[in-house]
Amino acid sequence: MRRDIQSIVGYAAAFFAATTATIFWTRYSGGLALFWPGTAIAAALFLTLPYRKWAMPACILIVLSTIATTFFGFGPGPALPLAFVNIGEALLTAHLLRKFRPQGDYVTSGPGILALISIAGFGVPIAMSLLGSFIAWQAVGGVWLLHTMAWIVGHGLGAMLVMPLVLLIAAESKSDGTTNSSLRLSPRRTVEFFCVIALIAGISAATIFQTGYPLLFLPMVPVVLASYRFGRLGATVGVLVVTVVAAASLARDTGHFAALDLSMGGKALFLQFYLAVQLLIALPLAIALNQREQLVADIIQREALQRLISDHSDDALLHLDRDGLIQFASPASRALSGLDDLDGKPLSTFFGAFDQHIIDEALSGARASPGATRIIERSVTRGHATLWLEAKIRAVYAAGAVRSFVVTIRDVTARKLDELQATREARTDALTGLPNRRAFLDMLEEHLAHADESPFALALIDLDHFKRVNDTYGHDTGDMVLKKIAGLMREHTSRKCVFARLGGEEFGMIVTRDAVENALKICEHLREAIADKRMADHDGRPFAITASIGIARILETCSPSVAMNCADAPLYAAKAAGRNTIRAAQCEGAWGAPTPLARRRVLSDAG
Ligand code: GH3
Ligand code: MG
Ligand code: MG
Repeated sequence: MRRDIQSIVGYAAAFFAATTATIFWTRYSGGLALFWPGTAIAAALFLTLPYRKWAMPACILIVLSTIATTFFGFGPGPALPLAFVNIGEALLTAHLLRKFRPQGDYVTSGPGILALISIAGFGVPIAMSLLGSFIAWQAVGGVWLLHTMAWIVGHGLGAMLVMPLVLLIAAESKSDGTTNSSLRLSPRRTVEFFCVIALIAGISAATIFQTGYPLLFLPMVPVVLASYRFGRLGATVGVLVVTVVAAASLARDTGHFAALDLSMGGKALFLQFYLAVQLLIALPLAIALNQREQLVADIIQREALQRLISDHSDDALLHLDRDGLIQFASPASRALSGLDDLDGKPLSTFFGAFDQHIIDEALSGARASPGATRIIERSVTRGHATLWLEAKIRAVYAAGAVRSFVVTIRDVTARKLDELQATREARTDALTGLPNRRAFLDMLEEHLAHADESPFALALIDLDHFKRVNDTYGHDTGDMVLKKIAGLMREHTSRKCVFARLGGEEFGMIVTRDAVENALKICEHLREAIADKRMADHDGRPFAITASIGIARILETCSPSVAMNCADAPLYAAKAAGRNTIRAAQCEGAWGAPTPLARRRVLSDAG
């Protein structure tokens, strides 16, 4: 509330000062003022307040406008109706500006400036000109159309020149001081500001007041300088200074504008056009520069953050050029690559020679879909150690093309080992340490896929009367037996022969490559080894165990269940034949003959 009152008082004082000054100095031949900044100041005040708070300041401004016109302008008669039109104009301007507010603000964007100029500079002054000029015509006579023209020119010019400045001041006074202020200048900058303003005033005076040379374009130079050095503040104040000088030349009836072969209204209109052009050049330039400054500040901030991260991160952060060659490598890159100098080297420097095509693929994948991150994970050797590196690659797309790549490389060895451990555990039988059923079926599937070219042998090994072991010696002893059997299988394991525990007391075997023909022999060895293995319970009581084995040669691709059935049938036959024996699938000519039930020692006999 207190803030509102303070701002109302401030705007009202500015309104009164500006209107009295312009009425006093810029009313040529007793008519309307050439330049009317009052509407802009009043509209800016309304813009800072919600609609429900408009009534009180509107009344105050009507009173002030009436006083200004009474004492400095047309006198008491038309003062009150003119005040209503003036403040009505400000209310309409504020309402329309609020309604058509673009994104961002009026003085910070191109569309904003366009809205500001079309609403405050043209639309509203034209709409209000008939009423205003009618009152002026009633008061001083003359040609009504000229008064209308003078209104449009004076009010439009005033709004265009002053509105950006007051909006800027309003935005600054609303900000909490954390944002970069363009109004708060250091003493040195203040001196510079006034020097530039003085330069504009000097050059404007020198070019506008003379008529010898057509140099009206010259004031543009210091105005652009002001915009360049002081942004929107420089642009608006700069053009304002040119306006004051031009208005003064018109008032004194000397110089370029006064010398035009036009009526007073026509001269003023041309002056407005001249100033509007200056503003339309200076303001967008100032806005563009301001945006560029913010962009640069943004970049500096991001770069500082990036530097902090890149200096202290354990990950390697890389910039590659469009050909994938390293342009920047953070300090951690040295440890991860094992090289001191990475400049100009390809990304594959971090990886093994065999990974080259994977890196190339990842880079072209990233290039094809900018914004997406490609991830590759490879193992590398550094000295005697094996590391796992994870690279994340992203293409940088700018101005319609891929300009470069950003890459992070992380040592993920610990995570990878954990993952491998977890995978291993998920595929290993906890009791025996052999591969489990899932791992076995995966291996089987893999071999089945190439069975046509590489036939293999599949065997199922089932311990005989194992239930009796549990029943007679206890479950712990049963477990111990399973472990010992697994130990025997490990002894028979080679690159060509693998075993797995499929569940309970049933095991699987796959024999591949040139060993297929020997598969039967391997089974025979194993069967004998199991039967020969000496077992003992907790009390040292010895016993023996035997196994029955069914074996099949898989010559063509089929499903895992069909393959398992191929071996299951001979296993069943082996059991039926009295156990401790091997049967091969009957479909296999070569393995069709059953092996003799050599050294048959089932549990019942052992006891
Ligand atoms: P067959 O000669 O016909 O194969 O007779 P068997 O007793 O071996 O077959 P059966 O399928 O009837 O019994 C298998 C037994 O294996 C039943 C179960 O108690 C035992 N078993 C299964 N898994 C384990 C295990 O992890 N530990 C122990 N100690 N015993 C197990
Ligand atoms: Mg059994
Ligand atoms: Mg069984």
